[in-house]
Amino acid sequence: MRSLLRRCTKCGAYTLSKEKCPRCGGPVKVPHPPKYSPEDKYQRYRILQKLSTGA
Ligand SMILES: [Zn+2]
Repeated sequence: MRSLLRRCTKCGAYTLSKEKCPRCGGPVKVPHPPKYSPEDKYQRYRILQKLSTGA
């Protein structure tokens, strides 16, 4: 089952409205948990750095 809950990208308010935030009129999005953690991101940077400086 899909979640009906949306979240305003502007003020961060949760809403059931599909179109816009009832509070500030900003765009709403279905909140998804991030797929990767910041640690993974840093690890990727480290790998990229290694590739550009090494060899
Ligand atoms: Zn809002």
